[in-house]
Amino acid sequence: MESEIGAVSYDHGAQFFTARSTEFQREVAELQAAGVVAEWTGRHARITADGSCQLLAQTRSTSSNGGAGFCGSLDGLPLYVGTPTNSALCQHLGQQLAQQQGVIVEQGVKVQAVERLGGGCGTSGSRWRLRGTRQGRGAADAGTDGQEDLGAYDTVVLADGMTLLPGSAGHISGIEQAATSLAQLAASVAAATPQPCFALMLAWRQPLPGVPFDSASFDAGSSSSVDGSSGSRGASSGSSSAAFQWIACDSSKPGRPQDAQCWVALTSPQRTQQLLESYPLVVDGKFQPQTEQLRAAVAAELLSDFTALMQPFVEGVLPPPASCHAQRWGRAFVASPLGAEFLFLPSQRLALCGDVTAGSSIESAWRSGRAAGDAVAAMLLASAL
Ligand SMILES: Cc1cc2nc3c(=O)[nH]c(=O)nc-3n(C[C@H](O)[C@H](O)[C@H](O)COP(=O)(O)OP(=O)(O)OC[C@H]3O[C@@H](n4cnc5c(N)ncnc54)[C@H](O)[C@@H]3O)c2cc1C
Repeated sequence: MESEIGAVSYDHGAQFFTARSTEFQREVAELQAAGVVAEWTGRHARITADGSCQLLAQTRSTSSNGGAGFCGSLDGLPLYVGTPTNSALCQHLGQQLAQQQGVIVEQGVKVQAVERLGGGCGTSGSRWRLRGTRQGRGAADAGTDGQEDLGAYDTVVLADGMTLLPGSAGHISGIEQAATSLAQLAASVAAATPQPCFALMLAWRQPLPGVPFDSASFDAGSSSSVDGSSGSRGASSGSSSAAFQWIACDSSKPGRPQDAQCWVALTSPQRTQQLLESYPLVVDGKFQPQTEQLRAAVAAELLSDFTALMQPFVEGVLPPPASCHAQRWGRAFVASPLGAEFLFLPSQRLALCGDVTAGSSIESAWRSGRAAGDAVAAMLLASAL
């Protein structure tokens, strides 16, 4: 992103990923060989409830239970990131797909409405017509509603629960009215309890001196309110609950530019809740888009939390950052996923996959998308015979 000090790179969404299953380990090895994934061998730490910092032991175990630290960062498994950025990894996956015969990959498309053609159910005959917007397309392509015809398709795979939720940024109008089973699905997705989160993005021209970790996960109840005057490293005298569940020096990740030192901090559920009371997601049933004003106000509040948290770990006085931004994630994590790898309604020719069905993690999303794709391909092949 462009910032006050030129272009800087942040991972303000997923921070890293782990590979627990052998299938995903194989995939990650291939992506490493292709140069779009690398292990992040940073100094990963845990900040305990009394504010002290414990570095993760170097020994690795694969028998972890998948839960220690933010997204399992302290499970002892290798942490991977996309290189030189996470979006470069996504671009690579898109290019790989596009090289397969018959595959067309379109990016920057927002699907906003669907219509079931041919009426009724049944695996043959009826198709889905999609309408929406393509980034960079002129108004000439669009109808009076600003949407253009995106084509008719045999099958649709919904890769985000938002598509089924009226009022959310990704909602596809008309979808949950297409069938009773889809209305029921939409009700289940609505109950899948999203956990919002705010990301704070900070950049300094010079590295922060003396910080003993590159990432830190916080135990519930760790204090972010510290006595900066004591200067003692990691000592905490405050009693407020933690503002953040995770902080990381993005510049310590492999392949990231070194012109500035970039940090990302993700708010804890309690701090997120407090912020949402001041800046609600929905007012009178209407989704509130995040404005520049909202981002700036949140960034200012969170910078003050970050400063209090980091001061004991920095040599001298923490300087003000050269750049400070915030981002809201309205449905960052799914607390109660639907509990299936993916869902498939063959009679509707529609599948749903991703974190809403399989749970919040890159590996779960990968497994889910792959399984949904296999099921759809098998159905299409069978119906073509
Ligand atoms: C701040 C944050 C930090 C995280 N950190 C980690 C981490 O360190 N490790 C980890 O494993 N997981 C992490 N996660 C969780 C992880 O990012 C998710 O579990 C994962 O991205 C889910 O993948 P997905 O494909 O299901 O959904 P998404 O990644 O949300 O992808 C869904 C896509 O669908 C698109 N879409 C939605 N509606 C439409 C529409 N109508 N038309 C067109 N496109 C649409 C969206 O734009 C999006 O690109 C983090 C999540 C957040 C928010």
